[in-house]
This record gives sequence, structure tokens and C-alpha cells, in this order.
Amino acid sequence: MQFTDEQFSLLTKQLRNLKQRSPFYAKKFADINLDDIRTQADFERLPFSEKDDLRAAYPLGLQAVPDQDVVRIHSSSGTTGTPVIIPYTQKDVDDWAIQFARCYRMAGLTNTDRIQITPGYGLWTAGIGFQLGAERMGMMAIPMGPGNTDKQLQMMEDLGATALGATSSYALLLAEEIERRGLRDRLKLRKGIIGSERWGEKMRNRIANELGIQIYDIYGLTESYGPGIGISCDEHAGMHIWSDYVYIEVVDPDTGQPLPDGEVGELVLTTLQKEGAPLIRYRTHDLTRIIPGTCACGSPHPRIDTLVGRTDDMFKVKGCNMFPAQVEEVIKCTDGTSSEYQVMIENISGKDVLTVLFETPLEGDAKARCEEELAMIFKAKLGCTPDAKGVPMGELPRSEKKTKRIFDSRY
Ligand code: ZN
Repeated sequence: MQFTDEQFSLLTKQLRNLKQRSPFYAKKFADINLDDIRTQADFERLPFSEKDDLRAAYPLGLQAVPDQDVVRIHSSSGTTGTPVIIPYTQKDVDDWAIQFARCYRMAGLTNTDRIQITPGYGLWTAGIGFQLGAERMGMMAIPMGPGNTDKQLQMMEDLGATALGATSSYALLLAEEIERRGLRDRLKLRKGIIGSERWGEKMRNRIANELGIQIYDIYGLTESYGPGIGISCDEHAGMHIWSDYVYIEVVDPDTGQPLPDGEVGELVLTTLQKEGAPLIRYRTHDLTRIIPGTCACGSPHPRIDTLVGRTDDMFKVKGCNMFPAQVEEVIKCTDGTSSEYQVMIENISGKDVLTVLFETPLEGDAKARCEEELAMIFKAKLGCTPDAKGVPMGELPRSEKKTKRIFDSRY
């Protein structure tokens, strides 16, 4: 992706005196004079930032402004190791709100909508980002946070929520509960803003159909404000990224070389206006591509495609590289499956054994045929044959945060 002139002048402004402001970048760019960054090629020679570099700056090593300018911090939701702490100035918080409000407008929401916010509030950026954007545009926020499904559904009905902010797994859980309790006709939901997780077409369709709502994917990570730096539009052809705040690149995950637009690789983000903790060439480990050309919706903001996985999600079985998105594709192509699945990889007496568990309403011979078909499609698309095993609907676990689907017990 080429910088626009406006983007490049924002970048130059951000780089000016960056080393004086930020001990983190003083060290990272020790041998580089940032005033020499005058072209796209100069920029592309800058070293990447990695999550581990950010972690090593714990607690406040990323701070690039004086203490009196920091109004809050957030932290990445890493379940292992040292968290990454991101300091925000008031301008950062305002800019985040502006971007999130844009996302809501892109999804067709207005200040008369009411959004039920189910992601968690606190150190991580999810719930509070949804809240900021809602307040910014004058939409009523119902700040539920996760869990307590009975109360969620009660509030959703009583307050007439028209929009739902959720992770995909929690949206699915709510959709199934609404279906089970026959509540749909008593609700006013019309839009879902779903974030923070890569998910398959089938799951999206189930949530959309069971709730009778239109769904928009929201993108972002704590390191770059939080969710809300981009969202899908009514064309549902990728997610627009707000290009006045964030510059996107897609690089080859092995060589780090920028790839031409349209090719799948690792998404790299550079913030253009961030004060508290600017981010320069941050490797997200998200796999996607930049969608060439302009969107039919008319938005000038560039698009990334639906995420196909994480560079570190890739797993190798019997010599074949696989991504969860490819397994989802197999599930989607097999009749009689639901959206839920699990992959188990074990080593039994020196041999890799791959098992795919999937939910199905089928029983007996029909289930056996479905298992056979899934194994065949899997072999055709991914190059090796799994043991496919159908389990009853609702058997596989759903979680309120991210649902783990690949279980590798070999290491
Ligand atoms: Zn569009």
C-alpha cells in the first residue's frame, strides 16, 4: 500500500523528535536519523516492532509524552507473560472515540439507536471503546459487559436495544439462547457490531439469521487504540481502515518484505496521530490482504480482507500447513454441519493423529455419511485425511471471550 501525501506528512510529524520523546524508539532506532525518512522506501527500511519488544518496555517504557499528559492506560489481554501497557493522552482517547463513532455510522447506526455492549470493561480496550464511540455520537450505551445471560436478555428486551456489540462467540451464545427461549419477536435488534476474533462465514450467517440482524466486523487491537480502527461496510467486502489514523502494510511473514496489494500476508500497522504510545511498523501477526481498488460503498478508506488466521495459528500435521480458516471452509462446504468444530492433534505411537469434531443434527447412517464427506473434502482441500466425528448440537464449548478450537497435544 502506498502512502498518500497526507499520510506521509502525518508520519513525518509523528517521527519528528520521536527519539527524544520515547526511550523505546530511541533504543529501537538508535542508528537511524528519523529526519532522513523522506520516501516510502526509507520508511520500509525501518525495523518492525514486535509484541515482545512492547512487552520488554513494561510497565511504562512506551510512554512518549510527559506524565501530566497521560490520562489512562490500557493493557493487552495477553494470557501468558508480561502484558503490554499502552498510555493514552486525551487526544488519543478523543481520536479513538472519533474512529469508533465512524464505525457505528458506517454500520448505519444513529443517535437514536441503543447499543448493548457485552465485551468486558477494564484494562482491555473492548467494552470501553464501544462505549466511547456510542457517547461520541450520542447513542444510548447499555454497558452490560460479558456474562449473566438472563440479565443480558432481560435488559435487551426491556430497553429495546437495537444494536449488539459482542465477540463472535458471545454473539452466537446469545443468538442460541434467544432462539431457544423464543425471544426473537420481543427484541428490537437490527445490527451487530462484532469484533476481536477471526471467524467463519457459517458462524456469521447463523448469528445473522437467528437474530435477524445485519452484522459488521470491527477491527483493532489494544496496541493501536483498540477496536474501532476499521469496520466492514454495507458491501460486506472487507473492512475499511481509517487511513488518517492508521497506515496499513501487508508483508511476507517470513521475509518481512512488503507484498503487492491483493496478496495475503501479515498485517503491519503504523499509527499516524498517536501521542501516548505511537506505533511504528507493528507486526500484528494477523493474516489478511489489502483489497485493491475502491469499494462500491464510495468510502475512500482502504480495505483489508476478512482475517484468514494468525501467523502463529498455523499448524502442521503430516507435513501439511493449515490455518483454522481452512478448516472452517471445509466445515462450510459439508452439508449437515453447524458452525462449531474442534480440531485435536495427537501423537499416538509416533504418528500424528488428526481428529475433527463437528456439531451436527444428524444421527445414525446420515451422520456417518456426513463424517465421510467431511473427511473427503478435508483431504481434497488440505491434503490429509482426518478422523471426522459428528457430535450432537450444543456439545462443543462456547466461551464469552475467544473460543479455542485447535488442540495440539504433541508438544
Ligand atoms: Zn465499503
